[in-house]
Amino acid sequence: MATTRKLEDQDVYVYEGQIYIPNTYTAGALGTRVLTSLRDKKKIMGIRCPSCNRVYVPPRLTCKDCFSQLDELMEVSDKGTVLTYTVVSEGNTCQPVPSPVIYGIVQLDGADNGFVHMLGGVEAEQFRIGMRVQAVFKEERKGSILDIRYFKPLS
Ligand SMILES: [Zn+2]
Repeated sequence: MATTRKLEDQDVYVYEGQIYIPNTYTAGALGTRVLTSLRDKKKIMGIRCPSCNRVYVPPRLTCKDCFSQLDELMEVSDKGTVLTYTVVSEGNTCQPVPSPVIYGIVQLDGADNGFVHMLGGVEAEQFRIGMRVQAVFKEERKGSILDIRYFKPLS
């Protein structure tokens, strides 16, 4: 819902609001293979650079370091290390679950970069940078990155 306010020192009013823009685009051949692996096998796929051996999760088509074309998908671990995290307390339409949401960057074992996803399973105060975590998959998976419910601390 748009709200109005008067600009400071001017007799001018403005509307403030947010625009909801639904959209659809293809995941592509590579993205489809990654999402079906999550859905059907609960496997997290990365992609290896044939030139410099970096492994990216999620997969990308071009190496950010050496610009090689990438097409060598490989499974990485569902376990990893929390590189950083934050807690979002305010809800908005972009969040996949109700607030508060704990977003983390997790470096999965076998990957060379961080993977942005949600952390959960315990209270936010219990997470720490450097903590070991493991993916928790939904029982009913749809071929979405959200087939991973969150990453929980390894016990
Ligand atoms: Zn490379």
